[in-house]
Amino acid sequence: MTNPIRIVHLYPREMNIYGDRGNVLTLARRLEWHGYAAQVIPVNRGDRLPTGTDLIVGGGGQDSGQGLVVCDLARLGPDLAAMADDAVPMLMVCGLYQLFGHAFRTGSGTILHGIGVLDIETMSSPRRMIGNVVARSDDFGQIIGYENHSGRTTLGPRVRPLGRVDVGVGNNGTDGTEGARFNNLIGTYLHGSLLPKNPAIADHLIQIAVRRRFDSAQLRTLDESLSDEARRVALTRPR
Ligand code: GLN
Repeated sequence: MTNPIRIVHLYPREMNIYGDRGNVLTLARRLEWHGYAAQVIPVNRGDRLPTGTDLIVGGGGQDSGQGLVVCDLARLGPDLAAMADDAVPMLMVCGLYQLFGHAFRTGSGTILHGIGVLDIETMSSPRRMIGNVVARSDDFGQIIGYENHSGRTTLGPRVRPLGRVDVGVGNNGTDGTEGARFNNLIGTYLHGSLLPKNPAIADHLIQIAVRRRFDSAQLRTLDESLSDEARRVALTRPR
């Protein structure tokens, strides 16, 4: 494999629910369809972040799973923060979205201290927020996903929302926002998986990764009929 784009998958054992692995598969497969080789590198507790990382992806998990990775994530925190500052593209879903923020107070009252790369804070609430979500964003148009979380997230001034919620709860159910962005890091509550149903977001991340690596990026026009169909079906599903 010549010079593959290196995708780090953070904590695939503990932080990988509601199809989040599909995000990694989508990035790798779409990179190949666009004519670039891809290599997926799982980073588990105790592992080092590989050098030459082009893209970082993390998923969601139960409060207990978050408790298992939180110390190890603190170990990686300075490197991840430096990479986020350096505009490495990243996608963090739900559980890791919360832990990339300052803190998450879980349902049992435990405070899990995040790495503070995202200026967000999360508190568990008694009502779980579950169901399909439709949001909209200037950059990606209509975003379709699935949420299942107890945490309500408040955005600070150093992030901007990923989108505005039309159907569903998103960050907190009060300010209408969904997700958070800082440089090229996207945090979101949306599982689904997110990227197979939202190829515009997948290609946005790919474009940045490829351009950072090779100075230019030539993405092909792909057949999106399957994702179009998945989006169409998801839109008809009740919450
Ligand atoms: N445990 C967290 C919460 O309930 C994250 C859930 C998830 O990743 N789906 O808010």
